[in-house]
Amino acid sequence: QERDNGELAESDTRETELDTSLSVEERVENLLSRMTLEEKIGQMVQGEITTTRPKDVKDYYLGSILNGGGSTVSPNTPEKWLETIIEYQNMAGSTRLGIPIIYGIDAVHGNNNVYGATIFPHNIGLGATRDKELVKRIGEVTAMEVSTTGMHWNFAPVLAIPQDERWGRTYEGYGESKELVTELSVAYLEGIQGVPSDKDFMHGTKIIGTAKHWVGDGATTGGIDQGNIILTEEELQYHIEPYISAIEAGARTVMVSYTSWNGLKTHGDHYLVTEVLKGDLGFDGLVVSDWNAHEQVHPEYEEAVKQSVLAGVDLFMVPDSWKEFIDTLTALVEADEVPISRIDDAVTRILRVKMEARLFEEPFPDETLMEEGTFGSEEHREVAREAVRKSQVLLKNEGDILPLSKDMDIFVAGIKGDDIGYQSGGWTIDWQGSPGNITPGTTILEGIKNIVSDDSIITYSEDGVGAEGHDVAIVVIGEEPYAEMFGDADDLKLSEEDMRLLQTVQQTDIPMVVILLSGRPLIITDEIEHWDAFIASWLPGTEGHGVADVLFGDYPFSGELSMTWPKSMEQIPIHFEDDDYDPLFPYGFGLKTD
Ligand code: BGC
Repeated sequence: QERDNGELAESDTRETELDTSLSVEERVENLLSRMTLEEKIGQMVQGEITTTRPKDVKDYYLGSILNGGGSTVSPNTPEKWLETIIEYQNMAGSTRLGIPIIYGIDAVHGNNNVYGATIFPHNIGLGATRDKELVKRIGEVTAMEVSTTGMHWNFAPVLAIPQDERWGRTYEGYGESKELVTELSVAYLEGIQGVPSDKDFMHGTKIIGTAKHWVGDGATTGGIDQGNIILTEEELQYHIEPYISAIEAGARTVMVSYTSWNGLKTHGDHYLVTEVLKGDLGFDGLVVSDWNAHEQVHPEYEEAVKQSVLAGVDLFMVPDSWKEFIDTLTALVEADEVPISRIDDAVTRILRVKMEARLFEEPFPDETLMEEGTFGSEEHREVAREAVRKSQVLLKNEGDILPLSKDMDIFVAGIKGDDIGYQSGGWTIDWQGSPGNITPGTTILEGIKNIVSDDSIITYSEDGVGAEGHDVAIVVIGEEPYAEMFGDADDLKLSEEDMRLLQTVQQTDIPMVVILLSGRPLIITDEIEHWDAFIASWLPGTEGHGVADVLFGDYPFSGELSMTWPKSMEQIPIHFEDDDYDPLFPYGFGLKTD
């Protein structure tokens, strides 16, 4: 077994990999023919930064590393991220064949784990913009900030079409309609990857995208995360369609969903992964598993690994027990339980994507990007601010109280009105997000203070006390940050704390403008009667001044609902194509101002 042989790597192998006069297929085939089983299985493993050291990449030939939700490098600076990724890549370069790793991250609304990144509205808000050109630019900025920190691969966009807003991942989808999801996810993919004919497709300041989660993750019964989808094959087609367009647009990786379809876990479903995705849809990129998801396929570990490899998963996200995974898969191949042809197919797909992303030629990031200082720059934040204002959906505007004039005596109430963490939601610095000034940005209150004239008086109160005598009250309420199943909810009423805040302000007779920060519509049917204006602000991210831009009329309200707004919990699931559709506000609704 040759290891650590830099000389051999240079002379014997890399010449072929680097010979761009050969096709990607020829180079992949040549490389594969020289790989040992150990090297092949290593390629199929994606370790996680907290449980996999750089040296493990070298010792076990690991094909990929990911950073799960959350910031795992310390200090959390873009420079430290860059240094860390280079360290892992160095180790890959020192193996016998020198196959580069691909480093993946969930940059789902900007490079959101990294302190100081530009954080965009979550997708439900981008759905409300209906603006594919804007979403493409968001993709471009995100790719720029991800590649500046040295990473190659983004586990985005989410192609889910949420059908039940009790689901904790509702906000990760662009909206409840197939057309909207398709249009915006394709635009986003083009933004982060470029298009396949580009010389720098998935390379340079572009990165590799992921269509996820295959398939129907937005359609589980009861909106349960990782739950069961009870649909006929014909009905499931609705959720397959965005993938057809995404693959056409150049999606080269697809992540499998934790969900089950009619009781069968998709990670173990040969029909869905191999026959439909790789066969019918002709997908020849790589299929990555979700986080430890193979373990859910069968109670016995060996059987779980076997079934998911045979189902057609190529690269395994194994943060916890990757050594056990390697041993188990090796034994399965040696015992002929998994044919080597399946391993070769998986490795071919992984190498193909690495080759297409030109990682063999240029495994290391362009460090001048960091020096250029575009990470979290004003210019990038301006794109996010535009997205914020276009994503605000005005649902009530009694007596045309909005836009407000800039010289009023304004009372701003609620801790969420002055908090970057609340306005950014889950997948921000931490997996679950958290309240607090967790990363640089502008809060809604700061945005208001910056935009008003010198004649205006702004009074801020966390609990709403002291509201008497002002011209208008802006009350900011909303959900606590959450991600994935932690956001699954049986009840979507306003919190007790928000109700107290609203009632405190309501006791005065000053007009109320209510701003809701949330990952989905909440039940407000009784409360909205007391409000003069109501804005669904979604989870706008770091650029809170975008909210002020529309509140004070510098820009119009133009957002339209990407999810139906139900009257009551009993109406959920509610969908714009229902026969007895009678929501509080229909899909597509949004008042416009000049
Ligand atoms: C999520 C994926 C994500 C992965 C890696 C999983 O829990 O379901 O969407 O890409 O973690 O962080």
